[in-house]
Amino acid sequence: MTQRYFCDAAITGSRAALSGGEAQHLARVMRARAGDVVVLFDGSGAEFSARIDRIGKSAVELSIVERREVNRELPFSLTLAVALPKGDRQRWLVEKAVELGVTRLVPLVTARGVADGRAAVDRLRRAVIEASKQCGRNRLMDIAEPRRWSDVAADSAGDGASRLFAHPTGATASDSGETMTPTQARGVVIAIGPEGGWTEEEAALARSNDWRFVDLGPRILRVETAAIAIASYVSLAASGTSVGANALASPQ
Ligand code: SAM
Repeated sequence: MTQRYFCDAAITGSRAALSGGEAQHLARVMRARAGDVVVLFDGSGAEFSARIDRIGKSAVELSIVERREVNRELPFSLTLAVALPKGDRQRWLVEKAVELGVTRLVPLVTARGVADGRAAVDRLRRAVIEASKQCGRNRLMDIAEPRRWSDVAADSAGDGASRLFAHPTGATASDSGETMTPTQARGVVIAIGPEGGWTEEEAALARSNDWRFVDLGPRILRVETAAIAIASYVSLAASGTSVGANALASPQ
């Protein structure tokens, strides 16, 4: 995919400007020149061909050549509510979630949580932009403010979304597969617990609010692996890809 640049102001007219790191990258790293044409996006869903007019010390000014509506989103809303792991694993999780088309990531506050979601939000929003530049998404995955599991558990009960609660319960593989089939048109919400696992009370809250329990098999996955495994399943199923069926088919 061509180099893409994120414009943090909505592009509504015939002109745009890049500033900060985006302008520096274009001017210093890519050594762009006036007259070069690049691709911009502003998170609104469109992407733009734009010609560079002027490269200044801290900003690059451009003229919009063409606006295109290019939809690379899932056909339903996919929310990942996750008790964030620490450090670089947070960034990895966000990057992969963006690539898979996750609509919203909600950092969960849980009894055994290890990471301070509040401190991470700004950094993770920056990671969303970087991942969107790379994978071609024209809408930014929303990083919500951290929320308590008790609030999220009771949320969205009536809106018809499939709500999947990842918990290693020892169910068989076939139980798990059936449980994970999402009602895609109405959205999917996936809840992933912290490194130390959900408490009995947290699991009870999921049960009493009618979340579907999902078991991912006999191995215990790290937070980010569990999150990306379920998000991949849901997102690939929604894209109509035959990868799952092909991988499991007997050789001819
Ligand atoms: N000792 C903890 C336990 O038994 O719950 C392990 C927690 S695991 C590292 C972190 C989270 O990932 C879990 O709370 C769950 O949401 C998800 N997870 C990991 N492995 C899983 C599995 N095999 N099945 C379902 N969920 C899993």
